[in-house]
Amino acid sequence: MALFSRGTSPLDDVDTVLADLDGVVYAGAGALPHAVESLNRVAGTRRVGFITNNASRTDATVAAHLTELGLRVEPSDIVTSPQAAMRLLRARVAPGATILVVGGEGLVVELEKAGYVVTRSADDAPAAVVQGFAPHVGWSDLAEAAYALKVPEDAGGIPWIATNTDWTIPQARGIAPGNGTLVSAVHTAVGRLATVAGKPETPIFEEAVARFGARAPLFIGDRLDTDIAGAQAAGIRSALVLTGIDRPKHLLAAPSSSRPDFVLGDLRELHEPYPVTRVKGDVTIVRDARVAIEGADVRILEAGDRPIDLVRAGTAAIWATGRAIFGFRVPEELYADPFHRP
Ligand SMILES: [Mg+2]
Repeated sequence: MALFSRGTSPLDDVDTVLADLDGVVYAGAGALPHAVESLNRVAGTRRVGFITNNASRTDATVAAHLTELGLRVEPSDIVTSPQAAMRLLRARVAPGATILVVGGEGLVVELEKAGYVVTRSADDAPAAVVQGFAPHVGWSDLAEAAYALKVPEDAGGIPWIATNTDWTIPQARGIAPGNGTLVSAVHTAVGRLATVAGKPETPIFEEAVARFGARAPLFIGDRLDTDIAGAQAAGIRSALVLTGIDRPKHLLAAPSSSRPDFVLGDLRELHEPYPVTRVKGDVTIVRDARVAIEGADVRILEAGDRPIDLVRAGTAAIWATGRAIFGFRVPEELYADPFHRP
């Protein structure tokens, strides 16, 4: 991937913008600063779609929330992990079959739309298990999944598809166990691995690209390990926006499998010229920010006027060495993090 080499805006040559939701569009119930107006402005000239690993809400529910926040959006603009799971299921099991569901409305609605019969019991001889998060999922649901999955897939067992394997799910009162922990409970009981539809796996990106007919998509996310790694695996250009989970210190340490093409302080920068990164000897320059690598030391020669340019310069300088972050002495100013945090 071309790292920070463009002198034009991140939207140049892009026909479709795909955005993650939590940490990109909103945090909790409220919109993040500048997100709504920036994305509506994109929608004036390009297709905009939204991608969410959250399996508990339907596309219509998500669209209603986004509309409330001021976005111009239809349910068909939302790609959910249950929809990506249907893409995987259709390739394995014909519609009309009975499917054991562990999860909530977001999953049941998609299964019924796709022509499957939903059951909650392993006694109904299901043709597959589909598992997603819902707050009411309990031990007895996980037990039904385990009963249905007792035969290994290579010994004729039925397919097991998980919407996503996020370890955590942000709630108003704090961080709670996500679908990954529940999938892991079943995995531990049966010794099988689920096929995963959501980020960082590629089916959810493939579903979005197919639905929107995207030829040159840009994906915007706030997490390196799911959003950026997933987009990179799917061959999609990506931007990390610093309004969510991952911070400059995570970016500096990003492994080569999860490095965004663009780094944005907030979504207004989608519409601004993206500065070219220049390298002169040991010095990496982004506008007036200048960073040098001297042995194990990362030195800020010039912090420049805009903190985001310093982060871009430091990131590009460290990544270009091919060396791991723990081998460097990094000045605190480089990860000072003056950006918006939800
Ligand atoms: Mg997010």
